[in-house]
Amino acid sequence: MFCPFCRHPDSRVVDSRTSDDGTSIRRRRQCPNCGRRFSTTETASLNVVKRNGVTEPFSRDKIVSGVRKACQGRPVTDGDLAVLAQRVEETVRSSGSSQIDANDIGLAILAPLRELDEVAYLRFASVYQAFDSLEDFEDAITQLRIDHHGAGGAGAAAPAGAGA
Ligand SMILES: [Zn+2]
Repeated sequence: MFCPFCRHPDSRVVDSRTSDDGTSIRRRRQCPNCGRRFSTTETASLNVVKRNGVTEPFSRDKIVSGVRKACQGRPVTDGDLAVLAQRVEETVRSSGSSQIDANDIGLAILAPLRELDEVAYLRFASVYQAFDSLEDFEDAITQLRIDHHGAGGAGAAAPAGAGA
């Protein structure tokens, strides 16, 4: 790491601390040549390969802005979006790969978004999965209904066993 002031090729670490979210380490460095101090941030690199082949660093902000459009008019707060973006990052990082397809990010968004708000989920899925007919929406809604029945419908199903 070159000193940003005098380009000296060496520097000494004077302090290092982990960021609050644990994904990066910030180091204070001092240049032995000019004595000035500067900071560096170290993160495990994670790059996104877009559909056009261009690679860019993973950004939670991009996840948030992408999902926010789908959440317009829905009871979803900025805090909810921040948590969602964090979960998406954890999911894609857990693959252990330093490079991830934009497509896989879209997939990683679907599950937490569905928990957050089903209308926003349908909107996002319709764009991401390129729904092009009413049937696509019907299928997605049917799937939501089936899953509701499995998870949330347990209480309503209780009388069936109550007679025994
Ligand atoms: Zn220097």
